[in-house]
Amino acid sequence: MSKPLIDLHLHTYYSDGTFTPEQVAKAAEEMKLAAISLTDHDTIEGCDRLAKACDERNIEFIPGTELSVDIEGNEMHLLGYFLDTQNERLITETTKYQQNRTNRVHGLVDQLNELGIELDADDVFDLAKCKAPGRPHVARALVKHGFCGSVDEAFSRFLRRGAPAWVSKTNVDYREGIELIHQAGGLAVMAHPGLNKIDHLIPDLVKAGLDGLECWHTRHPKSTAKRYREMAERYGLIITGGSDCHGAGRGHPLIGTVRVPYEILEKMKNRIPAPTD
Ligand code: AMP
Ligand code: ZN
Ligand code: FE
Ligand code: FE
Repeated sequence: MSKPLIDLHLHTYYSDGTFTPEQVAKAAEEMKLAAISLTDHDTIEGCDRLAKACDERNIEFIPGTELSVDIEGNEMHLLGYFLDTQNERLITETTKYQQNRTNRVHGLVDQLNELGIELDADDVFDLAKCKAPGRPHVARALVKHGFCGSVDEAFSRFLRRGAPAWVSKTNVDYREGIELIHQAGGLAVMAHPGLNKIDHLIPDLVKAGLDGLECWHTRHPKSTAKRYREMAERYGLIITGGSDCHGAGRGHPLIGTVRVPYEILEKMKNRIPAPTD
């Protein structure tokens, strides 16, 4: 029998993914995954539903999130794993981050309007139908209303960092993000470090209590994964991985396509501090 595999980086329509939690569970079952985590942007809202759908299919589920945080003026994504989804502070704070996302959509739409693109913020919210809207929703609205031919075009013409409609988003400081995850019983992992150019800041993250690096990721070539695995070893961090699947995409969904062995999850569990009370 082949070794059990897991996927620790997945999105649903509770943020910018297109799948429902049930569709994610079904896709995980089809890929024969032993465990998955839901890491929607700035929310834990879909976790309880996906936990139930996984339970019905005998798939282990780890409640997670992917927070956008600020580190020295750079945006980075911080994954949280093994979160208590009833944690009040986590719910209160992520609600604030969702408000920052909503404000940012208004900012992006204002910029688009300045450029003569007559998109309405409600066009985006009607399409997103979630509390954590993001640029992919703006891109999809631009395509739906005929302003762009594809999501890729929307990003490259308007929405990528530095493009004419791009505006920054208010993000929480990384130390606060790490602490928020820890106080909710979770582990804090730097998402896709290969997509950021902030390796020099990893020691600061370690000092702030970072637990791990996401080494395996769809957009990490083998050499990148190796580099971060070595770095994780040096800093005493755990290594994690996931596909960052946002739904069906252009064809087959990414879920399960980044091969992460189940042993990773065991190591993560060993890193969770025992409750102090
Ligand atoms: P936001 O959190 O609103 O800034 O949006 C970031 C999300 O947009 C990422 O998590 C990706 O899912 C997606 N994204 C970023 N760049 C691109 C791109 N060039 N094309 C398509 N999707 C992108
Ligand atoms: Zn995303
Ligand atoms: Fe990310
Ligand atoms: Fe992601």
